[in-house]
Amino acid sequence: MKTKVLDTLERPLRDLRISLTDRCNFRCRYCMPEEIFGPDYSFLSADKILSFDELERLTKIFVSLGVKKVRITGGEPLLRKDLPLLIERINNIEGVQDIAITTNGSMLKTYAEALYNAGLTRVTVSLDSLDDARFRQLNGNRGKVKRVLDGIQAAADAGLKVKVNMVVQKRKNEQDILPMAKYFKEKKHILRFIEYMDVGNSNGWKMEDVVSKKEILDRINAQMPLKPIDPNYTGEVATRFQYEDDQQEIGIISSVTDSFCANCSRARVSAEGKLYTCLFATKGFDLRKLLRTSDDDQVVTQKISDIWNHRTDRYSDERANHAPHKKSKVEMSHIGG
Ligand code: SAM
Ligand code: SF4
Ligand code: SF4
Repeated sequence: MKTKVLDTLERPLRDLRISLTDRCNFRCRYCMPEEIFGPDYSFLSADKILSFDELERLTKIFVSLGVKKVRITGGEPLLRKDLPLLIERINNIEGVQDIAITTNGSMLKTYAEALYNAGLTRVTVSLDSLDDARFRQLNGNRGKVKRVLDGIQAAADAGLKVKVNMVVQKRKNEQDILPMAKYFKEKKHILRFIEYMDVGNSNGWKMEDVVSKKEILDRINAQMPLKPIDPNYTGEVATRFQYEDDQQEIGIISSVTDSFCANCSRARVSAEGKLYTCLFATKGFDLRKLLRTSDDDQVVTQKISDIWNHRTDRYSDERANHAPHKKSKVEMSHIGG
């Protein structure tokens, strides 16, 4: 039976983001800076992470509450062994209309075909620069541009629709906006520019490091004119634009300068099974404990429904009122983007 749940701002629960692991083979400075996530960092042990059985059970419960779209993320989700098996299991859940993964692309060449065969239709690949030296600086000296581009090509060849995410930071990679736009326009993959966000507590975020949606648009427009296009659906995270000459699309995710909390329908489950109702939350609810102590799905369903009913989150709308770094926010690598 399906029950639609609404939060205190009348927002339905429609999207579920599942982080499969808190581990990653990159050390992007804005997400897992090396000096914090170094050799001594204690990552979650296998028994603390939700199993595929638990994830399938949980997804079914979320679907019964209105979830239609599932995004698999991390850490780096491709580090999770047998990921295609999980994709297949989630894809077979009646009511899941869309399943996607977000990945750094470094292992995509190896897994693209298996993921497609498991029922995945689309993938989002993160890439912040086409310049190898700059890319390595941004990812903690771990990933090479060519490897990610090969992953993107393999995904497209396998039949997956590809979107590319680029986080833009002042003085770090703003010079890459135009080269990235030109490259992916030609390749016909949708490129989405993401404003650098104050997620977690470890990246030392400052407002002056943000390149705004307006600045990004101005830079592209000056060389390659764009026009706005309608959202695909209510609550779409990216604002969409099309090049005037060839209809190729780009998107901008402007959590900082043009927030979109009013339509936020996303629940997030961290690798250790905590439920977060906002990317900037300070506290999550321990679903793992509930799943491991109760066989009764109704108990879990009721708890999630209660949490969603009481949800008031609108962090980005209220960002200016928050004292940055005063509160302990969950890290991006725990709950995924
Ligand atoms: N490892 C995968 C990847 O990089 O695609 C999935 C997890 S990663 C946390 C998900 C997305 O969040 C990536 O596109 C990444 O660039 C973005 N991200 C991480 N930290 C961010 C920040 N502080 N501001 C904006 N986007 C961020
Ligand atoms: Fe890893 Fe993705 Fe975070 Fe980069 S953004 S450190 S690739 S989880
Ligand atoms: Fe949703 Fe929180 Fe982001 Fe607002 S700040 S859009 S409520 S995740």
